Amino acid sequence: MMVVFSSMLVMAAGLAVALRASEAGRIWAAGYALVAGAGMALASTIGTGSYTLIALAGWAFLLGRLAIFLGVRVYYGLPERRTLLRVAALLALAVLLYASQQHNAVALLQLSGFGMLGTVSLLTLLSLLNSGVSQRSIGAPLAVLGCLLQLLTQAAGMVHALGVDASGQSLFFVADSSRALWVALPLVGSLLGCFGCTLLATEQIIARNESGARLDALTGLLNRGALDQAADALIARWQRGGEPLTCLAIDVDYFKQVNDSHGHHVGDAVLRQIAQAIDHSRRASDVAGRYGGEEFCILCPYTDEGQACALANRILRKVRAIDLPGRRGSATVSIGVAQIDGADGSREALWQGLFAAADRALYVAKQRGRDRLVLASSLGMPVRDEDGDEDADEDGALQPA
Ligand code: GH3
Ligand code: MG
Ligand code: MG
Repeated sequence: MMVVFSSMLVMAAGLAVALRASEAGRIWAAGYALVAGAGMALASTIGTGSYTLIALAGWAFLLGRLAIFLGVRVYYGLPERRTLLRVAALLALAVLLYASQQHNAVALLQLSGFGMLGTVSLLTLLSLLNSGVSQRSIGAPLAVLGCLLQLLTQAAGMVHALGVDASGQSLFFVADSSRALWVALPLVGSLLGCFGCTLLATEQIIARNESGARLDALTGLLNRGALDQAADALIARWQRGGEPLTCLAIDVDYFKQVNDSHGHHVGDAVLRQIAQAIDHSRRASDVAGRYGGEEFCILCPYTDEGQACALANRILRKVRAIDLPGRRGSATVSIGVAQIDGADGSREALWQGLFAAADRALYVAKQRGRDRLVLASSLGMPVRDEDGDEDADEDGALQPA
């Protein structure tokens, strides 16, 4: 038992270093270190007959379990209720110290200790089952299994304590081969739980790193690399199914003036708001990214030019609502819209061709006065508004709604 607890202590110390990037990981490492340290203390005090010491070691063990429960709440973003946990911990100390002073301290300590531990295990199990098991994770089922074993042994500990008299022994801390299973089960449960929590925290750190590598740090939209990847997948889907695929190239108007007049931090704030307007305008299936600088791109699968025009008009309206410091009242963008055509070529060439067509239309939108959209297919031809009606103005630009 000492060997298992001391290895768990070493594991927990390693965890604290390895998982410091995850708040839940740090809490779990502290929790398992406490459980391991308290387990060792319990194993060495249990034969001494000092019930106060046993009560204190048992309380430290319970604190470790409470920390593991808190880690689960933090991990899944559930209400943490730290004050309630602190009050519960103080009450538990009072109960254990009271039990240690009674004539039947052995039974009372076990009954109350296992009862409280079982309650914490049950709450941890419920939190894990409610939040963790539906997500794709290897750590969650292991943590659940560890928790179940804990619960089982704590229930057995309670039942055993009911029949314990003043000279009785604990179910778990005995060197008796007939009870080897009861000694092994909680240890296996703790190790499984510790392993499960380690995996959970590692999964979280990996997921964060992956999304960090895919997202643009300023705007939170996809970065250029991720946009290229998404375009590749969408073009492959288009090649298989042939459903329309449309690209919007969006460039902020006169953005240099914003930087020049108010500094880059104001420019950055405006870029973030525009990115948000773009993100809130798109459908869930659309892919929005920052192409570079103050230029954005949206790829819309299953979307023809008419539907893409409706999206572009929504963006034009939302961006106009963003106040701009300085001489101009509000931010504006120009948008070029292009739909992929049936040309052959590699996916990369098709993506470059699609974006180039949207970018040409964007350039024309700039020439025609900005704050508008232009369809690539309309260049040199009558143009259509977002309802599909023919609607050529005198310079051929598609008027924003
Ligand atoms: P136009 O309407 O023709 O697009 O005019 P513009 O001023 O927007 O275009 P121009 O290409 O002259 O200037 C783009 C500016 O965008 C210059 C660059 O400093 C600024 N910019 C690009 N990326 C960032 C960024 O991440 N943050 C900030 N604050 N500015 C950026
Ligand atoms: Mg610009
Ligand atoms: Mg630009």
